[in-house]
Amino acid sequence: MIAADGVFVGISELATLAVGPVPRRGPAMGELGIVPNAALAIRQGRIVWTGAERQLRRQVRLAGGRRPVDLGGRAVLPGFVDAHTHLLFAGDRHREITWKLEGLSYSEIARQGGGIYSTVTATRRASDAELVRSALDRLRRMHSWGTTTAEVKSGYALTLEGELRLLRLVPRLARASGVNLVPTFLGAHAVPPEYADRADVYIDQLVERWLPRVARAGLARFCDVFCEPGFFDVAQSEKLLFAAARLGFGLKVHADEFHALGGAALAARVEARSAEHLLTTPSSEYPQLASAGVVAVLAPVTPFAALSALRSPGRELVDAGVPVALGTDLSPNSWVEAMPLVLAHAVYDARLSPSEAITASTVNAAYAIAEEERAGQLAPGRPADFSVFPVEHAVEVPYRFGTLPARVYRRGKLVFSR
Ligand code: ZN
Repeated sequence: MIAADGVFVGISELATLAVGPVPRRGPAMGELGIVPNAALAIRQGRIVWTGAERQLRRQVRLAGGRRPVDLGGRAVLPGFVDAHTHLLFAGDRHREITWKLEGLSYSEIARQGGGIYSTVTATRRASDAELVRSALDRLRRMHSWGTTTAEVKSGYALTLEGELRLLRLVPRLARASGVNLVPTFLGAHAVPPEYADRADVYIDQLVERWLPRVARAGLARFCDVFCEPGFFDVAQSEKLLFAAARLGFGLKVHADEFHALGGAALAARVEARSAEHLLTTPSSEYPQLASAGVVAVLAPVTPFAALSALRSPGRELVDAGVPVALGTDLSPNSWVEAMPLVLAHAVYDARLSPSEAITASTVNAAYAIAEEERAGQLAPGRPADFSVFPVEHAVEVPYRFGTLPARVYRRGKLVFSR
């Protein structure tokens, strides 16, 4: 008999995502490891048993005095993993949506005082307390919408001390919010105003001084770069990523979001963990991603928020054998916190099947941020991070636009209910 201190019954479908190698690719992305009429047992915040509810009594002993929690015939999914966020920033850019609707270009918006540099200015000016308060506010909503693990990129300070400060806040935010957070150093988010027209000099600074400082302090698991015209070209990005790899960082690339610059091919060449966005990547580069084992992290709400005609090539990447993951790309430029909305866009815009969208937001997203041992699957030994959705079938979550969880559990504790 397996000893448990918590048992959940009345689960119409339990999507375990516990079948097959990680990351999932091709047809395996559609396999959710569903257990119908299921139960789930936990001990000290970890899963100890999953299976059919009728097997429960024979296999699991619940600690004396405790009663099973009846989830009322609803579907249970692993907590979402948001594999791409720019969570840490000050201020907002709500005025820009009107300017975008009026047809202003990115550089015209910057001239009106908007764009990324307005967020850099606000973030540099903000106190630690202000940054923590606003990020925590966002994290609480993310948590309530089913996200239990998320990546957090730095990149809105663009000074050495400022970037270190942002990264130091991440563990504090994880403790305060209860969300499992993975930090990524994105000093190469844009060329800081102090280095205008001197991107080469800035990259040398990052390589020689900033990266070693971040590495010594153990503040980031990944190094990312914004590889786009006007930001960092392929040669500059490659120099930074090779230096980061030598220091032990995992690698990520913001690749081909606006222009096909060769960012995806670069990600394959440096064996990055992930290439992100890929809105304009030529399909001829997909096989390179597939054979290098690079995960495509798509943020299908981002082109929508940019009023762009581009769409995330989810279907095409899955068909090419590339493992696909999902993220919100939460930032002041595309302010989305709700993973259920991302899943719906992944289906209706990026053309993943509902099952593939669930895989991309759980097990594959966990792999994209090297959390595959701790997140994205509901199996014995793993943290009991899961959400209860008010639907009978798991695939109804992406099918219904923006379905919110009725309950969210993190390490077996109820953190939200509605
Ligand atoms: Zn991004």
